Amino acid sequence: MSPEPDEKNPRPLDEDDIALLKTYGLGPYSASIKKVEKGIKEKAKTINDLCGIKESDTGLAQPSEWDLVSDKKVMQEEQPLQAARCTKIINPNTDDAKYVINVKQIAKFVVGLGDKVSPTDIEEGMRVGVDRNKYQIQIPLPPKIDPSVTMMTVEEKPDVTYNDVGGCKAQIEKMREVVELPMLHPEKFVKLGIDPPKGVLCYGPPGTGKTLLARAVANRTDACFIRVIGSELVQKYVGEGARMVRELFEMARSKKACIIFFDEVDAIGGARFDDGAGGDNEVQRTMLEIVNQLDGFDARGNIKVLMATNRPDTLDPALLRPGRLDRKVEFGLPDLEGRTQIFNIHTRTMNCERGIRFELLARLCPNSTGADIRSVCTEAGMYAIRARRKTVTEKDFLDAVDKVVKGYKKFSATPKYMVYN
Ligand code: ATP
Repeated sequence: MSPEPDEKNPRPLDEDDIALLKTYGLGPYSASIKKVEKGIKEKAKTINDLCGIKESDTGLAQPSEWDLVSDKKVMQEEQPLQAARCTKIINPNTDDAKYVINVKQIAKFVVGLGDKVSPTDIEEGMRVGVDRNKYQIQIPLPPKIDPSVTMMTVEEKPDVTYNDVGGCKAQIEKMREVVELPMLHPEKFVKLGIDPPKGVLCYGPPGTGKTLLARAVANRTDACFIRVIGSELVQKYVGEGARMVRELFEMARSKKACIIFFDEVDAIGGARFDDGAGGDNEVQRTMLEIVNQLDGFDARGNIKVLMATNRPDTLDPALLRPGRLDRKVEFGLPDLEGRTQIFNIHTRTMNCERGIRFELLARLCPNSTGADIRSVCTEAGMYAIRARRKTVTEKDFLDAVDKVVKGYKKFSATPKYMVYN
C-alpha cells in the first residue's frame, strides 16, 4: 500500500492533472519542481522564524549559536593589561626564550609569552601588554607617541589642487620633482646612483602661496601628510620640543611614505646665538633635533620634509646646508600672467558679469601678492552686496583695486620681507 500523500511524498500526478497542466502550456515536471521550490521557501521561512533572525547588517552570529553565559564569565575574568617594556630577550629563537620586562615604577621581571602571542611578534625595546598575575606578555603594543604629535597628521585631504595655484609654474615643477618623482619612480634615482633630495625650503613674502602649494601637494600624493606649525614645537619644559620632533619622525618612519610640512619654521629654526645668560636656548635644541633627524643617523625611509618661511635669512645655516634641505624654492610676487590667472581662479565661483577684463585688473595691481588679489575679489563682492546687486561688475573690481592696492599700501609688509634679495 502506498503511504498517505503528505508534504514529503506528494500525490503522484494522474492523467487529469497532466491534462490540466497542458492547458496552461506546462509539462508534468515543471509543476513538481514548482511545488518543491515552494516547499523549500516555506521551510527556510520556518527556520528563520525559529532562529529569530531578521535581515540585518550587524554581522552577528545566529542567536541559537550565542553562548551568553560563558561570554559573561570571560568578561568577568578578563582584566586590564599593564603596559611594560620588553628590555631584553634571553635565548631568542629557542623554545625556552624568556623575556625581561620592565614595569614602570614596579620592578623588572623575567617572564614567558601568553598563549596568543608568537615569539616573532616581540622584539627587544618594544612596548608590551602584560597580565597582572603572572606578568606574561599578552599583546605587543605600538610605540608610544604623544597624542599632540599624532593629531598633526592631516587625515582629510585639503581640496586644493595644482589648478588652484596661479602663476608659480616653476615652483610647482620644482616641488613636484622633489616630492612626487622619488615617491612614484624611485628606480630612476637608483639607476643613476644618486640619493633623491631630502627636503625643500619654500621662502618668500607673506601671501604668495607657500602654504597653498603645500596643501596642493598633500592633496595630490597618497602619502601620509603631517603638518607642523613651528610654534607648536615650542614647549614649556626643557627637552619636550626635541622629544616631539623625535616622535614626529618616528611616526613618519612607521608609514610607507610620508611628507612632513613645517610651516613658519622661523619660530624654531632661528640662527643660534649666545643670549649672554650662559644657558642654552630650548628653541635651539628643538632645531638641532630637526637637523639631527634630517641627517638621518637612522634611515629615514621615504620621508620628505617641506619647510615654509618668510625670513630665510634668519634661519640657521646648519638647517639650510645641502644634504638637509637640498632645494630652496623662492616664491616671488606673481607676474602679469600669474596675476591674471589668480584673478581667474578666485572669480571662478563668483557671479560676475560677462567680459570683465581681468588682464587690465592685473595690470592695475603691480607688486601684489596672491592674497592681495584674493582680497580684491572679496571686496568687489562686498561692493556688489552693498549695492544690492546679484552680479559683480567690472566697476566693483576697479573700486576694490583702489581700496585694496592703494588704501592698504601702508600695511604692506612685502618690501620688508624682500630684504634677503
Ligand atoms: P605666510 O608666509 O604668511 O604663511 P603664505 O605664502 O603661506 O603666507 P598662503 O597661505 O599660501 O600664503 O596664501 C594666502 C592666500 O592667498 C591663499 O589662501 C590663497 O587664497 C591666496 N593665494 C596666494 N597665492 C596664490 C596663488 N599663487 N594662486 C592663488 N591664490 C593664491
